[in-house]
Amino acid sequence: MAKILIVEDEKPIRNLIKRNLELMGHICMEASDGDEAAEIIMENPFDLMVFDVMLPGKDGFELLELVRLRLKLATPVIFLTAKESIDDRLKGLSLGADDYISKPFVLRELLLRVQAVLRRTMKEEESLFFDDIEVRFSSKKVFRKGLEVCLTPKEYCLLETLILNRNIVLSREKLLTLVWGYDYEGESRTVDVHIRQIRAKLDLKDRLKTLYKMGYRFELT
Ligand code: CA
Repeated sequence: MAKILIVEDEKPIRNLIKRNLELMGHICMEASDGDEAAEIIMENPFDLMVFDVMLPGKDGFELLELVRLRLKLATPVIFLTAKESIDDRLKGLSLGADDYISKPFVLRELLLRVQAVLRRTMKEEESLFFDDIEVRFSSKKVFRKGLEVCLTPKEYCLLETLILNRNIVLSREKLLTLVWGYDYEGESRTVDVHIRQIRAKLDLKDRLKTLYKMGYRFELT
């Protein structure tokens, strides 16, 4: 789970990137021009920034200079460059960009590069604490009162999905898609069985609510 800034003036592309990074559990902020982006960067910490090169106001290079030279931040930056522009790529890398992606890009490539850069840079383990529970996201382990609780990979994935979408109702069908995958042919009762296991193992009846005919919601403010 990373906090990511997306700077891109083309709204459909920006929305596409944002939606997909959020589906992967990341928290996204967005800016449609370089000046707006500069303001956001000066006020918010990020784990990763994605800059388009050609932007109204400050361009992507100027934003990178702001990040590296003025603010002296090591935050990883991925550039979106036009396919034919090798100069742009070299300039970006020489200014300290971590990676670049040529437009038009395949979404899967972008998501893989984002994950690769985050794996390189986010070494510290992120945990979420609530009640007597600790969830460690990078090692996918859960502890209760300091002792590790054995969850199956699917139980963990289901719990993580509910936590990342906390306070939102997720239908059984949505959970099947997010946890078991689009082509999973099982039935929604599978979700109920796993929810029952998670509740029993972690004593989550006050947090993990069943909403009649709607699905499940993990409540945490
Ligand atoms: Ca642009």
